[in-house]
Amino acid sequence: MDAKNSLIAVEEFNGKYKINEDYRPIAEALKEKFRELEYVPVKNILFLENTEDERKKNNSIVYAQISKMPGKWEDIIFQITKKHFEYMLEIFKENTILMSREQIVALIYHELKHIQLVQSKDGPKIDIVSHEVEDWINMVEKLGLNWNSTKGQIPNLLDENINWESIEGPANLFPAETSLKLVK
Ligand SMILES: [Zn+2]
Repeated sequence: MDAKNSLIAVEEFNGKYKINEDYRPIAEALKEKFRELEYVPVKNILFLENTEDERKKNNSIVYAQISKMPGKWEDIIFQITKKHFEYMLEIFKENTILMSREQIVALIYHELKHIQLVQSKDGPKIDIVSHEVEDWINMVEKLGLNWNSTKGQIPNLLDENINWESIEGPANLFPAETSLKLVK
């Protein structure tokens, strides 16, 4: 039984907040590959698609956000599932629907990098931190300033073994035809 089946009891869910376990292998592979993600507790992250909101902040599109799970809900979910979810990674599906795979991978990297080991007065702890500037400097350097909105190609931080169908939506019925249809 794969992770998806062991977590999700409702097969077809059409509500606003949809758990999608298919982002998890992306996060796991990124953590394995990039040292700066070593403190990210991927198994304690709940991957959630917001299927309705076209979120914006200060006029720019919000593609995803990571936040602490409210303590009450962490306790509730634990009692129901025996799993601890400390964080929620919320993907704004309406805003990411046109993203390339490379952009999705970069987006998950971006959000995971918000979880870091920080020094607090009680000693080191894992917490959510903000960017150096409006983005992570290394991402802008490697992928370009508009890695999340460009129509051009960006490098893929990962490659194989991802269930892209559930992330990108149902398979295109006429892939060859539409990929040629660049002019209107
Ligand atoms: Zn960010």
